[in-house]
Amino acid sequence: MPPFEVPEGDPFGPHNLPYGVFSRPGAQERTVGVRLGDHVLDAGAAAQALGSPYASLLARPSLNPLLAAGRTAWSDVRRALTAWVTVPSHQETVAPFLHPLSSVTLHLPFEVADYVDFYASENHARNVGQIFRPDAEDSLTPNWKHLPIGYHGRAGTVVVSGTDVVRPSGQRKAPSDPAPVFGPSVRLDIEAEVGFVVGVPSARGTAVPLGDFREHVFGLCLLNDWSARDVQAWEYVPLGPFLGKSFATSVSAWITPLDALDDARVAPPARTHALLPYLDDAEEEPGGYDLRISVAINGRTVSEPPFDTMYWTAAQQLAHMTVNGASLRTGDLYGSGTVSGPGPGQRGSLLELTWNGREPLELPEGKRTFLEDGDTVTLSAWAPGPDGVRVGLGEVSGRIVPS
Ligand code: CA
Repeated sequence: MPPFEVPEGDPFGPHNLPYGVFSRPGAQERTVGVRLGDHVLDAGAAAQALGSPYASLLARPSLNPLLAAGRTAWSDVRRALTAWVTVPSHQETVAPFLHPLSSVTLHLPFEVADYVDFYASENHARNVGQIFRPDAEDSLTPNWKHLPIGYHGRAGTVVVSGTDVVRPSGQRKAPSDPAPVFGPSVRLDIEAEVGFVVGVPSARGTAVPLGDFREHVFGLCLLNDWSARDVQAWEYVPLGPFLGKSFATSVSAWITPLDALDDARVAPPARTHALLPYLDDAEEEPGGYDLRISVAINGRTVSEPPFDTMYWTAAQQLAHMTVNGASLRTGDLYGSGTVSGPGPGQRGSLLELTWNGREPLELPEGKRTFLEDGDTVTLSAWAPGPDGVRVGLGEVSGRIVPS
């Protein structure tokens, strides 16, 4: 009998090995953990027990040292971890460092440097265009097919899954209102997204080409871009999202390394417009990822957005973000933009799912146009893995509490 075993087909089996940061009850220290089934491996303690040279990257209170170490180190550490949890002689050594997930506290796994959010789903952009600009000739803005649209968000309010979200207050003014009013948002929404985590920095004044994506980006996570639609609608012209977004962004506690997602790589949708050379990925490796996302409100699935429909890839977003010479830092986080598929059950925001509140969702606890206090929103996802086994992504969950 091996000292521990993960059930066959478990989406968090040894083929996955996402990274997080945890602490044990009563202990102040945070340390890097690797998820295996419903346990977390204290990776630093295991490395020390095995005399591994990677202890210096793993016995740390955040993922930043590992993120900064670069692709060769990422692959080497992953290969070592795989051996530790699958080779019987190593298993015996590391078994004492496995803790039940239910017994630990998970923390924000890395120090977020800069945070950028994109707008890469054509279905989402068209839905929003139809809702907010119904009289426009084209539901897409003229630039949409030529560059990945994005904005800089607030890194300091990125929170880990499980953190309550206080309903934000702000100014709002409906077109029919004579003057703006101030108060708690009455149109609080979600955006189901995927976040990409930058490991290796780039120098100011240089651009990161499409082909260097995997040299800089370590992995991905699920991300919920909480959005106060009433605040956003009144403030966003002409400079874009500000207080309607900056109060909170939730990320999953687990960062899935890109190396675990090789079987999920797919070509993005066919390009309908010629792209400038720095964005033209026709000759590049497939830049899309086949991630199947679920959105649940209070435990009930309300949408299943497919990530493989995203028009702009994470590699194109990285190339665009740096083409002006802006530098990358370890811990930079960028969101894909709301993931919405073509079907009505595939939309990644309540704005779209209820068509701006006109078609409420019927939930057991009542109708929903936007979020009520006490509602819990959970995003989960999986991707195709080796031999038909799924790669699970860590969920991101958050509950709305009154302001
Ligand atoms: Ca967003």
